[in-house]
Amino acid sequence: MGLKVAKFGGTSVADAIQLAKVKGIIESDKERRYVVVSAPGKRYSDDNKITDLLYLCKTHIEHNVPYDQVFQVICDRYKSIEMNLGVEVNLQKHFDEIRANLVVGMPSDYIASRGEYLNALLAAAYLGYDFVDAAGLVIFDQKGRFLYDETNTALKEELAKHEHAVIPGFYGTYPDGKIKTFSRGGSDITGALVAKAVCADVYENWTDVSGFLMADPRIVKNPKPIKVITYKELRELSYMGASVLHEDAIFPAREVDIPINIRNTNEPDHPGTIIISEIPEHMHDDTTITGVAGRKDFTVIGIYKNMMNNEVGFVKRILSILEDYDISFEHLPSGIDTVSVVISNKNLEGKLEDIIEDFERKLNPDTIDVYSDMALIATVGCGMSRKLGVSARLFSALFAADVNVRMIDQGSSEMNIIVGVENSDFEKTIKAIYKAFVEKE
Ligand code: ASP
Repeated sequence: MGLKVAKFGGTSVADAIQLAKVKGIIESDKERRYVVVSAPGKRYSDDNKITDLLYLCKTHIEHNVPYDQVFQVICDRYKSIEMNLGVEVNLQKHFDEIRANLVVGMPSDYIASRGEYLNALLAAAYLGYDFVDAAGLVIFDQKGRFLYDETNTALKEELAKHEHAVIPGFYGTYPDGKIKTFSRGGSDITGALVAKAVCADVYENWTDVSGFLMADPRIVKNPKPIKVITYKELRELSYMGASVLHEDAIFPAREVDIPINIRNTNEPDHPGTIIISEIPEHMHDDTTITGVAGRKDFTVIGIYKNMMNNEVGFVKRILSILEDYDISFEHLPSGIDTVSVVISNKNLEGKLEDIIEDFERKLNPDTIDVYSDMALIATVGCGMSRKLGVSARLFSALFAADVNVRMIDQGSSEMNIIVGVENSDFEKTIKAIYKAFVEKE
């Protein structure tokens, strides 16, 4: 029999109704033996996430503002879940303990982690699975750096003792036992770590969307779902703005080649998206691209200097100036006598004028052009390298849509083509690319 790890995100465990769906999913497949849960998330768009409320309690205390009301909202959410599920986990004892720890000034990592802790207690009781705390199993060093091997060994050892278990996501412990959380959305990482530790056949990540879509549905009407995607393609698309899964959740699964399956708790029959390292031959389909995504607000600094190609170390000097300002760049397209540096506006944060001054002084260029309103759009797909005329199609589509392409960058793997266009052309560009490669195929 195979083995699956199922992680359920905040909206999937937001209340008793959602947890009943979780139970249905778990009971429909005996292979789903290890379950990782988030804290209760939003039940409707204006609702609060428990994690946010926990952080809020901590902030109230830090500012000497009464926190009881917020704390009560948290307690009431859990009590109603407990009552509606018909389970008994002595919540009051836990509330008292958390309140006492809040008052003595326990750090916010501890406070925030209680969202997952309490939810895992409830879910374990409801599913009839063992509760296995992540404390002492997900391990960080004194400086808060995650210890990968130690965690794997500890999880492996402990979970071998449990046929079925629910593990709270999002946190682990320092060597002294104090709680340390991952960054927000970190239950995805816990799920991947558990999947690796128990050598799962699949890591199922249950959320409120049926996997990845080929484009942002706010821009393209009813974009097609992505059935399979490689880790590398996903990285390109996530970086460009398509986000469903915490980026750091990919590494543990990728390392041991465990497929990640993004599924929808509200639509459990939908197969979702599978993320794997390489798409096997029999799964290749006819689509050229896997997806298109992008981000707005980049600045391009174009540096022109006659005979630049003969000047040894020219690019190195550009990069060392950027390093002086602690700035990372996104792209560096170059010609014989030109180099352009593409930097996100957020990264530049008022440093632009000083950087230009340094470029002028240290590089002695003929001209420097700055353009600050650029959007980058990545057309991603391993299938692109297998087909001829991909660029021709892409640029004809942009020409037909009257989009002025200001920058082009194609990764050497032929897995993506990035175009830089004016911010105002962002939506138009994504629509044109989607139409050319998806609707017309
Ligand atoms: N509850 C945490 C958050 O809201 C972690 C998670 O859900 O993955 O970020």
